[in-house]
Amino acid sequence: MIFDARPQDERVATRCFCCGARPRVQEDVWTRCTWCDMRWPSQGMARHDDWTGELHAALCGRLAPADVAWRATNRTWRIAASSVRLWWPFPAEDSGQVQTGTTPLAFQGLSGFAPVPVSLVILSPPDDPRLHTSVRRHAPLFGETIVVLDAACVTPVAGARVAARPLDGDFAAQRNFANRATRGDWILHLDTDESIAPDMAALLGHLAAAADHAGLRAVGFPRRNIVDGRVSDLFPDVQYRLIRRDVKFQGRVHERPLPCADGQATTVAQFGTLDHHLTRARIAERSRTYDRMGQSAERRGDDAALLRPFAA
Ligand SMILES: [Zn+2]
Repeated sequence: MIFDARPQDERVATRCFCCGARPRVQEDVWTRCTWCDMRWPSQGMARHDDWTGELHAALCGRLAPADVAWRATNRTWRIAASSVRLWWPFPAEDSGQVQTGTTPLAFQGLSGFAPVPVSLVILSPPDDPRLHTSVRRHAPLFGETIVVLDAACVTPVAGARVAARPLDGDFAAQRNFANRATRGDWILHLDTDESIAPDMAALLGHLAAAADHAGLRAVGFPRRNIVDGRVSDLFPDVQYRLIRRDVKFQGRVHERPLPCADGQATTVAQFGTLDHHLTRARIAERSRTYDRMGQSAERRGDDAALLRPFAA
């Protein structure tokens, strides 16, 4: 790169070795990731690779929390464990407790939780050609698929149960309507320009069971934004998409499930990604639409990050 226009602090920053996020705060001698709460020594960025190795060793039961250079809360251990399909059990009120024990943590396998049914919800305009592709790809991976069309009347979609309701610019209301149309306790929301891999889908029922056991109400996943075939710098772009049926979404634009701001009611699972397929032309068009609907400056910043290629 001949000229790097990014601010100096952004050029030297590296991503969190646990979750891949960039936002962080300084706390005494520690730097804390504001996404997953991982803390590492502020003076030790050169050891980033060592810490990744320590994390893997700890997840394999070869290192204890006291043996590593960084510090992780229970919430952080649960997020980290999910990357290798493990689960860290703890009472919700102990979410922020830092583990410092001298024996390796006893993780559980996610597949050991008997799976609960997960319904798939897809919102779509009736004329979106990606809808049929998405249903063909994903419906066989779920016990039930509900498509909610932005329309006054139903048009059949092979492989899905279809409902119709005019969107009227209110995505939260549309998702809440969709939730009421499902039968299972847990729902995965997917858009027509998003996809998940079959092996990720196969673990969702086990994950929902583990989340139920822990009293959680929503689970987020890192989303890879793939713009014109290239992964974007806007990562992990966590989206809370696996939710209990009684969870409500809020926000007409950029809707979110209500519990997603409550760290004790949620977790992030890293064993797969939501892949979001975009084009630069679509981003520009969408940004103009969202501006008309009241988009914030922060969201406009996300669009700028979307257009940058991924940097480690
Ligand atoms: Zn992190």
